[in-house]
Amino acid sequence: MQMIDFEFRNDLIKEDFSLNYCYQCGTCSSTCPVALITEGEFNPRKIIEQSLLGLKDLLLKDQNPNVWLCSTCQMCVEECPQNVLLTEIFEKIKNKIISQGESYPESFKVQAKSVIENGVAIPLTPPIIRRRDQLGLPKVESASTDEIKKLLDATGFEKKIKILKEEK
Ligand code: SF4
Ligand code: SF4
Repeated sequence: MQMIDFEFRNDLIKEDFSLNYCYQCGTCSSTCPVALITEGEFNPRKIIEQSLLGLKDLLLKDQNPNVWLCSTCQMCVEECPQNVLLTEIFEKIKNKIISQGESYPESFKVQAKSVIENGVAIPLTPPIIRRRDQLGLPKVESASTDEIKKLLDATGFEKKIKILKEEK
């Protein structure tokens, strides 16, 4: 049986009060492209419900439904009649997963590592550059990795991504 964690629930509400306005209409799930592709396995309405109920373990440990599947396309946020900031709330949940050292998908670790090494989550590879040229898109200027490293150091990014620290 899942335990209700009032502190977790109140924390989330304090961090984003819009959570409190959800009346479980399900509009978010019916407009979500990921819910469509996964045939309802990914369910933003349910994540919001679990957040409102303070089901901490389900959201942080079991990750069911998996908050990491959200593509942050913002369609749910645009359609929500209550102006619930779903993606902001998912962000808070992801941050809690990381800060509590719970596991998270490998693909995000790879992206975090790439931010540390290249300054971007998805580096520009020759095929991407070629494709951009073919489409007549402007060149992408890369930011200085030294500058990005300074920002990451200041925010304690590497320390937070403990697993990467161990791998290095
Ligand atoms: S659309 Fe908004 S109010 Fe409706 S279930 Fe989703 S978050 Fe709640
Ligand atoms: S932001 Fe996430 S939850 Fe909302 S519609 Fe897009 S993929 Fe679905």
